[in-house]
Amino acid sequence: MRVNLLDLTMEGLEAFVIHELKAPRFRTTQIWKWLWQYDVRGFEGMTNLSKAMRAQLPQIASIDWPETVDLRTSEDGTVKFLLRLTDGKLIETVLIPGAQGNFTQCLSTQVGCAMACTFCNTGLMGFERNLTHGEILGQILVARRHIRDRDLQPLKRLVFMGMGEPLNNLDTLLDSLKSMSSDIGLDFSWRRSTVSTVGLPKKLKILGESGLALPAISLHAPTQELRAKLMPVAAQVPMIELMAALDAFPMKPRERITFEYLLLKGVNDSLDHARQLADLLGQRRCKVNLIAYNPTEDMPYDAPEREQVLRFEKLLWDRGMTATIRRSMGADIKAACGQLKADHQS
Ligand code: SAH
Repeated sequence: MRVNLLDLTMEGLEAFVIHELKAPRFRTTQIWKWLWQYDVRGFEGMTNLSKAMRAQLPQIASIDWPETVDLRTSEDGTVKFLLRLTDGKLIETVLIPGAQGNFTQCLSTQVGCAMACTFCNTGLMGFERNLTHGEILGQILVARRHIRDRDLQPLKRLVFMGMGEPLNNLDTLLDSLKSMSSDIGLDFSWRRSTVSTVGLPKKLKILGESGLALPAISLHAPTQELRAKLMPVAAQVPMIELMAALDAFPMKPRERITFEYLLLKGVNDSLDHARQLADLLGQRRCKVNLIAYNPTEDMPYDAPEREQVLRFEKLLWDRGMTATIRRSMGADIKAACGQLKADHQS
């Protein structure tokens, strides 16, 4: 089996260079730069390696980028990629344009998801497998190449908010966060990345101790009872335990935990729900990000009325909280979680 070099951390690559390639240690940073800074996809391009090494490498190693099988650009500038992995599995990643024309990329961490949230397309598919280091970071390589080829605005932020539950792929997530901050590689500082999660206390603790990223918590309900209806697997963790884990999350003075609250018409979008949410979060160091449900066929939910979303937000403001409404992007290209893949498979 040839090893995909994109699956190796810096330490892993060093071990490969020394033990497999039988080459001196300094070759590690040379190869790392070719992979992550200059995005070469073949060994011939690694011009500072010896000819012998360039001939030897393809026999024991490969550079496997995810392959783009569908690409859709929305009128609002959102770009959605459907990517095929080496075993044929499909994942999605999205580039979302910001106000200044910078892009935020939404990354997947698993094929499918075990959380089975009742409103989520990916949840409907069930869990298939975790993504590897190379598959998580390969999404960035693909998107950055797209941006460079078209001279678009740079990629500024990364959010782990695509398919899958990132904390269920924790070791690889942490390796990926570390690798992408390499200043001779992708060069993303962790302050520009957010890990969106249903909130798993033991794993949140490890994420906190790593100091590598801040979480955004998919709360979606102000009470345990309602949350259990919407997110049956996630809610196996009682809300009290989740809140305790978040209260203990190490943060610098100006940092905040983000709570995501998906608004489903007639389900969790009343002003009573908003009051309960304010009771729960009002005293916490946090901000609330309200998300209008992006509807998919065959799901028993509807998008909330725009007016209701504004009223919900205003109530939180009146209670002194920081709340924002997430702009909905890319509806014309099926940009919500799992929609494009579902489209392809039907
Ligand atoms: N598993 C992680 C990350 C992936 S989901 C998590 O739960 O946070 C990313 C976000 O998209 C979550 O907040 C999820 O609840 C939300 N989401 C899923 N389906 C959606 C839809 N149809 N419309 C709007 N948001 C959706």
